Amino acid sequence: MYQRSFRPQGVIDVVSHAVPRAAVVLALVRTAFKTALSGRNRLAAALVLGFCATASADDILFENVRIFDGKGAALSAPSNVLVKGNVIATISTNPIEAADAERIAGNGRTLMPGLIDAHWHTMLIAASVADTMNDIGFANIAAGDEATDTLMRGFTTVRDVGGPAFGLKRAIDQGIIEGPRIYPSGAMMTVTSGHGDFRQLSDLPRTVGEFTPMEHNGGSIVVDSPDEVRLRAREQFMQGAVQLKLTAGGGVSSPFSPLDVTTFTLPELRAAVEIAENWGTYVAAHAFTPEAIEMAIAAGVKSIEHGFLMNEDDAKLIAEKGIWLSLQPLPEMLRQGFREGSVERAKADEVWPGIERTYELAKKYKIKTAWGTDVLFSRELARQQGAILASLKRWYTPAEALAMATGTNAELLALSGKRNPYPGKLGVVEEGALADLLLVEGNPLENLDLVADPANNFKIIMKDGVIYKNTLAE
Ligand SMILES: [Zn+2]
Repeated sequence: MYQRSFRPQGVIDVVSHAVPRAAVVLALVRTAFKTALSGRNRLAAALVLGFCATASADDILFENVRIFDGKGAALSAPSNVLVKGNVIATISTNPIEAADAERIAGNGRTLMPGLIDAHWHTMLIAASVADTMNDIGFANIAAGDEATDTLMRGFTTVRDVGGPAFGLKRAIDQGIIEGPRIYPSGAMMTVTSGHGDFRQLSDLPRTVGEFTPMEHNGGSIVVDSPDEVRLRAREQFMQGAVQLKLTAGGGVSSPFSPLDVTTFTLPELRAAVEIAENWGTYVAAHAFTPEAIEMAIAAGVKSIEHGFLMNEDDAKLIAEKGIWLSLQPLPEMLRQGFREGSVERAKADEVWPGIERTYELAKKYKIKTAWGTDVLFSRELARQQGAILASLKRWYTPAEALAMATGTNAELLALSGKRNPYPGKLGVVEEGALADLLLVEGNPLENLDLVADPANNFKIIMKDGVIYKNTLAE
């Protein structure tokens, strides 16, 4: 039984000391039973009764592990790592004194930071666009189930770049359902006919002040002036957005947004940046073409999503300005998923060759590069999340790829400043950092493909000092 004392996260942290102990214990028991029912831990049910007696936060000592710290190029010498509460307290090659700690024999396995996906849509994987528009209850439950799978793939944190994820995040942070830490953007902000405007032609003309089901549910929101941008941006922050996501140019999966179109105007983008900065955070903008990228940069956007049609000058500009480039090695399977002969397929065919070139530009100009997957509307593809990470070996060493998906992605998350829902260091194994850890069978710096099979290779998955998976005993 490894479902240890659950720590409410995020906003709840502020008041956690005031939460009655009985309520915490109740949540623990509920979580433990849920774990038992899910079949992941056959011992869980038997241990629920004993659980209440040991509900105080036990320390956990990982012994004899070799550490990938989320930054470096090599594993550490055999080491011991003590987790106290939700923090990595001590790392040492010498024995660590911790008489009361639960001991985990690492036997030379690799201890590394939990993985981070910087471009993920928690609400738009298990449910379709139609579900998200018409049945938000179903969409939330399906997304919750997928969130648990996401955590079980070793992803302890995701940056959600569009979708109504606030409720899911809250349920995860309160321990109602298991899932990763979520950095939500709220509704994807777009313009009429932009990427994320999912209306049909029959929905036109729009009556000003009326909303589509997608807008009501917070999946995306159409804004057509700087004033509307300010209003909707503030609404996202009111609901708990950590950063804003705008679509500054056309996109592949929206039928009415040609790739070449620059959707927002400069004053509209600037309005979004101003509001984000007022809230101490930043704007991430979807942009493929040089025009869209350059306008986004001129407006003060800090993270360019995709950028796959950029030119060399854009790469230089991004590097010079220290802007983040959030890239995804989109799998071929995704391109082929668009029906041949469709508008979407034609756009995918235009974008895909740019993936290779953009990675090469990112390397050439040493651009701050984040890694993500952008899986949409497919749990089958979501199961490839680790394999998509492993596909980075086309351009990077295993250590570089893993550093991108841990320490580097965490730096991008931290751009959210005071809006950061999980203050503390993520993505690294170092003293004082938050204890999001994976114990891996084998050495992923020698064989990156290990991350493609998390069910077999991730023996322990810990988030916030709590072990959610432990198959060492099996
Ligand atoms: Zn996306």
